[in-house]
Amino acid sequence: MTKLFGTNGVRGVINEDLTSKVALQVGKALAAVTPGTIAIATDARYTCEMLLSAVSSGIMAVGSNVIFLGMLPTPALQYYVKTHNVAGGVMITASHNPPEFNGIKVIASDGTEATPEQEAAIEAKYDEFIPLARWDRVGSMKTVGGYADEYVNSILSKLDVDKIKEANLTVVLDCANGASAYTSPLLLKKLGVRAITLNCNPQGEFPGHRSEPTEDNLQDLISMVKKTGAVLGMAHDGDADRCVFVDNEGNYVPGDVALAVLGKSLIKQNGGGIVVTSLAASSAIGDSISSIGGEVIRTAIGSPKVARKMMEVGSIFGGEENGGLIFADHQYCRDGAMAIGRMLECIIENGPLKNQIDALPKYHSVRLKIHCPDNFKADLISYIDKSTEGFNKDYTDGLKIITDSGWVLVRPSGTEPLFRIYAESSNKTTVEQMAKKYEEMVVTFLESM
Ligand code: MG
Repeated sequence: MTKLFGTNGVRGVINEDLTSKVALQVGKALAAVTPGTIAIATDARYTCEMLLSAVSSGIMAVGSNVIFLGMLPTPALQYYVKTHNVAGGVMITASHNPPEFNGIKVIASDGTEATPEQEAAIEAKYDEFIPLARWDRVGSMKTVGGYADEYVNSILSKLDVDKIKEANLTVVLDCANGASAYTSPLLLKKLGVRAITLNCNPQGEFPGHRSEPTEDNLQDLISMVKKTGAVLGMAHDGDADRCVFVDNEGNYVPGDVALAVLGKSLIKQNGGGIVVTSLAASSAIGDSISSIGGEVIRTAIGSPKVARKMMEVGSIFGGEENGGLIFADHQYCRDGAMAIGRMLECIIENGPLKNQIDALPKYHSVRLKIHCPDNFKADLISYIDKSTEGFNKDYTDGLKIITDSGWVLVRPSGTEPLFRIYAESSNKTTVEQMAKKYEEMVVTFLESM
């Protein structure tokens, strides 16, 4: 069977891994397994129109209709699918990848990311003969404009707009030349927040900086926050399902620190509740949430896993360390614009972000990646498992070894020939020693092969 879907939909370099022929067949397979109207939106990449045309053509050829919403953030399309009577959605995006990449992300009828079962059904159909509709049953395509406004209004309906307006805030926003340029500046305008904008012109080669919101890529945002004395800096990735923050002194805020700050604020406001995150996120989340009577549940890595667990346990908030934050009262998916709204409320309620971060328990972390051929990955995990007998271990995703002084997560990458090591401790020397120990273990194993 052809393997199409990776951890983030069908993704690749255009006209090398991902061609219009593949996109056409994905459209046909999707329409065959999901009968009914499909809503589609794109991010800002140059190759979006080509993929949009091919996927839509495949869908219509099988006899289903397409609603095209234009350029929008992924969570805006997801909210449309959730609140309109459609069979599902397709987002044309490669999120934070370089400009030569693009992708096809399938959205389920409830607006959440497609399940592995749905993706497997599309892959199975992809290789089969798919009957085409008779000429008079071929589907049609309708363009619906102006959805950015409706999506922004849905976020406003969840926020205390008057309180945010009264606070008279100045922020800096970096849209990474992506799709959020149509929604996040509009959201801030409607909230009465003075926004200094960077890279808010959608442009497919990402001239401002690469669209992954890392500290290295956000140096302009950091210096603009310092220069202007803004209370907050924020940046999206290319499709704005993620949002990362810069505090009021211009410090880059790692995603799991933002998760701890927001989780604490929301659990306090709610008088308790559950926060869901992956087992790779900082222990600072567990410590700060349990200190105020909340509970933290950990899942395997990947936002669909976090979102599904949130639904199952009735959690109000969840997310991952990469800046993907999920607010259950709006929708069960990562939503960068919603994260902006909630962070503004959080600093109005609890004071400057820097002070809130200083009040969190301090942890040090190390992240390493080591080249590892795919066929060695399983043996490597069992080698490390055998070498750490007697330790407290968690097998949810990879292998997490928990000791009194911290934890180490060793995990094969699902998409690349890489093996990852995540380590965390409250002591800087300890975390470095722990990471080194497991790095040596991996290297010793690989050299023996
Ligand atoms: Mg993204």
